[in-house]
Amino acid sequence: MEKTCTHVWESCLQIIKDNIPSQSFKTWFEPITPLRLEGSVLTIQVPSLFFYEWLEEHYVGLLRKTIKNQLGDSGRLEYNIVVEKSSSQKPYTTNIPSSGNGAEGKNQSIPMPVALNKDIKNPFVIPGLKKLQVDPQLNPNYTFENFIEGDCNRLARSAGYAVAAKPGGTSFNPLMVYGGVGLGKTHLAQAIGNEIKRNMPDKLVIYVSCEKFCQQFVDSLKNNTINDFVNFYQAMDVIIMDDIHNFAGKDKTQDIFFHIFNHLHQSGKQLIITSDKAPKDLAGLEERLLSRFKWGLSADLSVPDIETRMAILKKKMYQDGIELPNDVIEYVAHNIDNNVRELEGAMVSLLAQSTLNKKEIDISLAKQMLKNFIKNTSKEISMEYIQKLVCEYFEVPVEMVKSKTRKREIVQARQISMYLAKSHTKTSLKSIGAFFGGRDHSTVIYACQTVEDLIDTDKKFKAYVHDIQKKLKMS
Ligand code: ADP
Ligand code: MG
Repeated sequence: MEKTCTHVWESCLQIIKDNIPSQSFKTWFEPITPLRLEGSVLTIQVPSLFFYEWLEEHYVGLLRKTIKNQLGDSGRLEYNIVVEKSSSQKPYTTNIPSSGNGAEGKNQSIPMPVALNKDIKNPFVIPGLKKLQVDPQLNPNYTFENFIEGDCNRLARSAGYAVAAKPGGTSFNPLMVYGGVGLGKTHLAQAIGNEIKRNMPDKLVIYVSCEKFCQQFVDSLKNNTINDFVNFYQAMDVIIMDDIHNFAGKDKTQDIFFHIFNHLHQSGKQLIITSDKAPKDLAGLEERLLSRFKWGLSADLSVPDIETRMAILKKKMYQDGIELPNDVIEYVAHNIDNNVRELEGAMVSLLAQSTLNKKEIDISLAKQMLKNFIKNTSKEISMEYIQKLVCEYFEVPVEMVKSKTRKREIVQARQISMYLAKSHTKTSLKSIGAFFGGRDHSTVIYACQTVEDLIDTDKKFKAYVHDIQKKLKMS
C-alpha cells in the first residue's frame, strides 16, 4: 500500500509524542506541516530557520530514529524553511540525513534567511508604524556625559564608548560589563544604547533585563508565540541584556538566548551584557553560553575612590540645581564608600531632611542623617567590613585572621567575625568559611556555636561582642 506523506508524518508524531513532554511537543512539533514524500525522503515544513536549528539541536536523534522506524534504513528527512521575506530569496531546503552519523547534516553551514518584514508581535513594538520601530526601553538620563569617569570604570567606560561609536564593528562583541550592586552597570550599558540612538537613530536598539526576557519567553511559550519572540530579538541591531546572572538555573531561556546571540553575532550585530560577577564566577550558566561571553571583552566596574565619589555627588547636585558645602559632600562620600546607589540615596535623604525640617544642609545635619541612613541599610554590611572592625577592636592584623594560626586571640577574632558575618550578612556558611581563610562550613557552624556559648557564660566576652555589634551598626 502506498504511504502518503501525511500518514507517515502522523505516525512519526505518535512516536515523538510519547517521547517528549507535551509542552515541547506542542511548541516544536505541532507547527510543522508535512510537505511531500519522495521515495524514502520525507520533507517537512518548519516556520523559521530558528525552528530548524532548534529541532536539529534538540531532537535530531529522536527524529532520525523515528524516520528510520517509519521509512526504513534509507529513510531521510528534509526541511523546508519558510522564508518570510518576500524578496528574491526563494524558500530553501536543507536536509539532515536521518541515517549515518549525521555529522554532515549537523555541520552544514546555512545561509541566513531573515524574517524581518513580518508583523512582529511584541510589547515593545510601537503599533501602527510601517517600518519596524522599537521603543529601546532606555532611560534618557543614563548618558556617558552623566557617567563620571574614574579609575574604577576607565576600561569599561572607554570600551563602551568605542562600542557606541561602532556597534558590532569592534572586537568588543559581546561587551560584558560586570561589577557589584549599585556600581553603575545599568547606567553604563544604557549610556551605550542612548549614544547609539543619538548618532544612529535608525539602529534598532533594545534594552531588556534578563528577568524580563525570561518572563517574555515563558509568556511566549504559553501563547505559542515563540517565533515572534525570537524574530523580534533577532531583528535587533543592538541588544543590551542587563543582569544575566539571573539566567542561573533557567536552562531553556539560556538556550533561546544562545540562539539569538549566535544569530546576531554572526550578522555583525552588537551585544552588551551586564552581570554581577566575572564570567568565570558565574554559577548556573551553561558553559557554551559562558564561552560566548569570552569572545568579546569583559570589563569590570569597581568601587569608586573618594575623589570619584565626590565628583559623582557634585554632578548629581549640579543636575538637580542644588549646591552643597564641600565639607558635606566630602563627609557623605567618605562615609558611604561601597555603592554609588547608596551614595545617591544618602544625598536624597539629606535633601529631604533639610526641606522637611527647614534646616540648612550642613555637616551636623549630614552626620545626624547618615547615622539613620546607615542603620537602615545595616543589612548590607560586608564581610570585609566586619573583619576590619573586629581586627581593629582586638588589635590583630587582618592577615592573621585569615591564616591557619591557632593563637587564642586570633581564634577569638576569627570566630567572632564568622559569627557576625552569619548574623549580619546574607552570606552562606560556605562563603563565610571560604572568606575567612578557606575553611569549610562546619568550621563556621562550630565558631557560631562557640561564640553563642561564650556570650551566655562569659560576661567580658559578651561585652566585646556587643561593643563590636554597636560599632557595626553605628559606623
Ligand atoms: P548597577 O546596575 O550596577 O546596580 P546602576 O547603574 O543602577 O548600578 O547605578 C546606580 C546609581 O549610581 C545610578 O543612579 C547611576 O546613575 C549611579 N552611578 C553609578 N556609577 C556612576 C558614575 N560613574 N557616574 C555617575 N553616576 C553613577
Ligand atoms: Mg543594574
